[in-house]
Amino acid sequence: MHVLAYGAQAGDQPLESLRIERRHPGPDDVLIEIAYCGICHSDLHQVRGEWAGTKFPCVPGHEIVGRVAAVGRQVIGFAPGDRVGVGCIVDSCKQCQECAEGLENYCDGMIGTYNFATPDAPGWTLGGYSQAIVVHQRYVLRIRHPEAQLAAVAPLLCAGITTWSPLRHWQAGPGKKVGVVGIGGLGHMGIKLAHALGAQVVAFTTSQSKREAAKSLGADDVVISSDAGQMAAHLQSFDLIINTVAAPHDLDALLVLLKRDGAMVLVGAPASPHPAPNVFNLIMKRRTLAGSMIGGIAQTQEMLDFCAEHGIVADIELIAAQHINQAYERMLRGDVQYRFVIDNATLAPTATPTRP
Ligand code: NAP
Ligand code: ZN
Repeated sequence: MHVLAYGAQAGDQPLESLRIERRHPGPDDVLIEIAYCGICHSDLHQVRGEWAGTKFPCVPGHEIVGRVAAVGRQVIGFAPGDRVGVGCIVDSCKQCQECAEGLENYCDGMIGTYNFATPDAPGWTLGGYSQAIVVHQRYVLRIRHPEAQLAAVAPLLCAGITTWSPLRHWQAGPGKKVGVVGIGGLGHMGIKLAHALGAQVVAFTTSQSKREAAKSLGADDVVISSDAGQMAAHLQSFDLIINTVAAPHDLDALLVLLKRDGAMVLVGAPASPHPAPNVFNLIMKRRTLAGSMIGGIAQTQEMLDFCAEHGIVADIELIAAQHINQAYERMLRGDVQYRFVIDNATLAPTATPTRP
């Protein structure tokens, strides 16, 4: 089956309309007609070749929501018309300890939604900037939000789970002080989720303009990270800091804000390394510097259900596929509140763009 998509032929080329092939659904497969796909900063890192090993043509997109169009004969629990989502994982080995524990995100055989080897043409996975995708039922998520919120649910599939997973692992909740660094796609979800879990939330931003908005997302306080006085007011006070920044920066300025036994979790994945932190900032207060990658399938469903129950969605700007390249430039400038989402109906040439 051929479908329309948006992707790039090389790292220095803009994304453009492409035709790609999708496999015929097998017995365990779900064919999903994609309604919306979020634009994650990882898409930009990958498609521009900032991370090693990008295969071209590259079709990014791992914040996928849509409707089931068809199911294989062994599929249980999904039927045509169901609202579903697909995040960053479309397959894994299904046999290792990680898969058994629902931590498919840490399986050595995890197949990401784009740029991972697959028997399907062209030999690597192609993502959600496309009209349809075929995914094994194990990696398909159920969406319980109302239909009208579908576009704003899309970013939960990566930005939501990537912040939810460390918040849960490090037990954010009442009585805990949580910092969220960088108010972009991931960061704004981190603020909403930490707030909904009952934690005291402080947002760190480089953008003066996001100060008031961050409070409306659920931050109890907002710190301009370049202001030494504002930073000093929070010395040794955080249980947990989720750092979403997509560029190398000074980690020491944040580590010293952790209390004894506090942890800073890096989820931002810049193309070049951070300057190495001063080890004394770790050993003196038994602090932890950790990382975290997306989340497993069961935990993604847990997060989606929590969000449906609490009425949580992303704050989005809906765009036509023809505006993806401009959206990338604005994302690089931090000029988005807080996630671009593609209206995949605009991939069809006859569609009227949602925005001029
Ligand atoms: P984004 O929307 O571009 O947000 C990143 C935010 O970081 C910006 O809005 C900005 O916030 C801040 N920032 C950017 N450059 C900065 C700089 N030089 N110094 C300080 N702050 C800066 O990106 P995103 O989609 O949230 O993704 C963030 C990072 O997480 C990316 O590297 C992405 O690849 C990675 N990621 C990792 C995982 C994982 O599993 N670990 C999953 C998804 C994404 P302010 O304007 O508030 O300062
Ligand atoms: Zn992502």
